[in-house]
Amino acid sequence: MLALRIRVFGVQATASLFSSSSSSYSSSLTLHRKPPYFFNLSRRRPLSCSSSSVEQDPSIHVVTAPKCAKAPVPETVKFVKRALFVAPGVEPEEVREDMILPGSNIVLGPYAGHAQIKQVEFVKSSSKPKDCPKDDRPEFAILGRSNVGKSSLINALVRKKEVALTSKKPGKTQLINHFLVNRSWYIVDLPGYGFAKAPESARTDWSSFTKGYFLNRETLVAVLLLIDASIPTQKIDLDCANWLGRNNIPLTFVFTKCDKMKGGKGKRPDENIKDFQELIVKNYPEPPPWIMTSSVTGLGRDDLLLHMSQLRNYWDN
Ligand code: GDP
Repeated sequence: MLALRIRVFGVQATASLFSSSSSSYSSSLTLHRKPPYFFNLSRRRPLSCSSSSVEQDPSIHVVTAPKCAKAPVPETVKFVKRALFVAPGVEPEEVREDMILPGSNIVLGPYAGHAQIKQVEFVKSSSKPKDCPKDDRPEFAILGRSNVGKSSLINALVRKKEVALTSKKPGKTQLINHFLVNRSWYIVDLPGYGFAKAPESARTDWSSFTKGYFLNRETLVAVLLLIDASIPTQKIDLDCANWLGRNNIPLTFVFTKCDKMKGGKGKRPDENIKDFQELIVKNYPEPPPWIMTSSVTGLGRDDLLLHMSQLRNYWDN
């Protein structure tokens, strides 16, 4: 069995939906659940780079988009501060600039492989975590605040309309939807959180329901936590990330709606992401992988699939 050490992010927890009775946690813990893969999240210095702006500020890393990039990465993304996520199988000193996925902090490694989705089929909706499929296929759970763009992202990933079936109405039965991809791995559509008008009881139900899934699902490779980059950082998203971090659940931040030129309070997505990064730096000394996406332009779609392929292939081996 693969040894796993996962750095868990020191956070200032804020109590609400995701608050936990567990009192303290270390910034570096050994994982007790089944180790899905080794996350090298050691704090990294940015790569050296020929740009003069980098020489002025070593925390700024300029990325050249690989030729395969389909959608343009906004110029401003170059100035988002990043600490790299070094993929399994890569030695930090081996990292080159062209190994970094555009609009992300993710370094591609040798486990990246077949990434395209050729076939997807809906398998089942489960009302309880224990009812989820019982085979050993790896899975990625997709999670986010209501209206974050989760259905749009899932549909963009699988290139089908209306694959994401999760009930969007608060108070309705919340379901865990499993979609089998290429007959080998699952995308799991989880109920959204943070309905502004949801009764307290519905929020609590979501909380225990989804927490049970995260804590007991042995085949969970990673959570894709969707964050709307067109609005300022939301406390409920930080609370969610904190809860996942405290419980050693690997996650990737997927920023949605990065095509929007102006976000809330006049900020652009890259500015909101930069703000988010600053919160990460403050609260998460070991930042998880993150990537910018747009379901409108296709930005980040193929790169996110590549990232998922390397996590999945490492998990499989
Ligand atoms: P969900 O509630 O998280 O499933 O969110 P939806 O996928 O239904 O999207 C919520 C709203 O955001 C809809 O009006 C979408 O058209 C819009 N939306 C979703 N993704 C994007 C995106 O990448 N860019 C833009 N501009 N709008 C988006």
